[in-house]
Amino acid sequence: MAEETVPAIEPADIRWQDGVPESRLFGDVYFNRDNGLEETRHVFIGHNQLPERFATLPDHASFVIAESGFGTGLNFLAAWQAWRNTPASQSTILHFVSAERYPLTRDDLTRALALWPELQDLGDELIRHYPPLVRGVHRVLLDGGRVRLTLYFGDVLDAWRELEFTADAWFLDGFAPSLNPGMWLDDAIHQIRQHSKPGTTLATFTAVGRIRRALADTGFSMTKVAGFGRKRDMLTGVIPESASETGVTDVSKPASIAIVGAGIAGSLLARNLAERGVDVTLVDGANKAGTAASGNLQGALYVKLGVEFNAQTQLALTSLLFSQRFYAPYRHNGWHPTGLLQMAWGEQEQQRQERFLDRNHYPPEVLVPVDAAEASRRTGVPVATGGLWYADSGWLEPAALCRTLADHPNIRHCFGMEVQRLSRQEDEWVIAGTGPDIHVDRVILCSGHRTPELVPLEGMSGAFRFKAIRGQVSHLPKERIHAPEAVICGPRYLNPAHQGICVTGATFDLHDLSPQESANSHRENLRELNAMLPGLWNNEPPADSEAKTIEGRVGFRCTTHDYQPVAGSLDNLEGDKLNGLFLFTGLGSKGLTYAPLLAEFLADKLTGQPACLPRSLEKRVNPHRCYRMEAAKAH
Ligand code: SAM
Repeated sequence: MAEETVPAIEPADIRWQDGVPESRLFGDVYFNRDNGLEETRHVFIGHNQLPERFATLPDHASFVIAESGFGTGLNFLAAWQAWRNTPASQSTILHFVSAERYPLTRDDLTRALALWPELQDLGDELIRHYPPLVRGVHRVLLDGGRVRLTLYFGDVLDAWRELEFTADAWFLDGFAPSLNPGMWLDDAIHQIRQHSKPGTTLATFTAVGRIRRALADTGFSMTKVAGFGRKRDMLTGVIPESASETGVTDVSKPASIAIVGAGIAGSLLARNLAERGVDVTLVDGANKAGTAASGNLQGALYVKLGVEFNAQTQLALTSLLFSQRFYAPYRHNGWHPTGLLQMAWGEQEQQRQERFLDRNHYPPEVLVPVDAAEASRRTGVPVATGGLWYADSGWLEPAALCRTLADHPNIRHCFGMEVQRLSRQEDEWVIAGTGPDIHVDRVILCSGHRTPELVPLEGMSGAFRFKAIRGQVSHLPKERIHAPEAVICGPRYLNPAHQGICVTGATFDLHDLSPQESANSHRENLRELNAMLPGLWNNEPPADSEAKTIEGRVGFRCTTHDYQPVAGSLDNLEGDKLNGLFLFTGLGSKGLTYAPLLAEFLADKLTGQPACLPRSLEKRVNPHRCYRMEAAKAH
């Protein structure tokens, strides 16, 4: 595939033969013509002993299935159904990690899954959440989060190199090895062993000798058994219990976790862990969640995708797509998917968008270019330029959302406790402040710009390259303007009306650290908004004096030196002094978009479950990159 077509990925080219899908590229069927579902149950479900293994899972455990070749998702749905049929599905999590180089389009997926009426409910849910066909990792939450699908759109070898997980069972699918050699390379088989542990099983429809030997050479104890229907043989394998652990290390579930800061990052992480059955303590100086930077009435779900499809753009795109799926259940509870216009405002941005569209190919589900007339129609406001339209974006009520998220029986609130000091005593962390000490195994600091001062580095808080940036928003009475029907982003953003106002902002004050609202900042917001949308006002544009009558709110964004977020542990940063301490901050003004995926990632790490970020993006968000060794040494 030509480089310039990124991030879109080439879809499967399907030929329907008597209603059954076949790949034109590989010249093979996706599943057995006689009865694909029964074959899946025989080969993959039965020979991995899944029903028996699901039935004995302890509470809060997770079970990880990895598959090569997601195809129509039939194997996945059959596994999900088998898991659902066991009582364990109420208190455990099923992870399914699958790689797919040529994903089916949503239409083909819908047509293929229509063949299985008994899987219809599950199939419909998968189709609703099926990601757009762009490269990279997509974490899909299903069945209320009890089923977590990690779909890697790309080559299987890259998938196994990039993803971090340890499988309990493998579904080695793919087309026949003679037609699909790329799926069965020795390197891929080596990777399969790397992602396995003693007790890991595998099943595959093929019985080809080379593959049996390669799997056996890596350490699987292989057996040839009867295949399905007319197929004489198939293979099963298991890593003997006596084998050494070479797989990715499992982090055992920590006994106790505290999260400091109940803004959007902390609330999302607390909720994520709570829903996985983990008890968490959520600490905040205020008496409720969402009062600081996440306390605004409205916030846009927005990222600026880069012209180059590099790691930074990939992180922004993956976060955007995940957050759009994540917020869907909050539709009547803080999430407003109105669509969002990224205006091609000014010559520079216009040229940037042209280059962006030239060099990239995004599916229309993600974004489409629109001209000024179309942009005006979609937003309901006369706009002078077109831009990029994100149909599935919109705006959120961040403060309300934080409160909803923080309200869960597994989340213990320690609100009204100003944290003053963190210290490590033997193997535990002690959080001290204006309340009783809290003793826990792991602490996650989600304290925005206050995060560095809480890291116990003996006064070396400057060692972290974080910056507080003041942002003031202005509340425009909706009668004053043509309130937009969708979010408009340019040098300022403007939201649709909510409770009689439209929030616009925010200033970006690098040198002003005043927490007070200022008329100057309102003036700046009004001026910028007027320049961006001169046709916005019902009567006259606002006079400078109007700034004094406007209300708003001040918040402080925490940004890093490279404007990328931070989510990860401080393990090994200073010997073992900071082990068990995590940072989740540096979200700048894009917290609503980045935080759902990064909360998912941290919860994966904290519970030892498969990671939703590939290693290359995990590196991007690692807090170690923000640590200034020299500053620490000079101290
Ligand atoms: N498990 C699927 C199901 O339940 O429908 C059927 C899988 S089909 C037999 C094989 C799949 O492997 C195809 O979707 C194909 O595009 C994918 N594939 C082939 N070569 C690949 C590669 N090198 N990396 C990733 N996927 C590949």
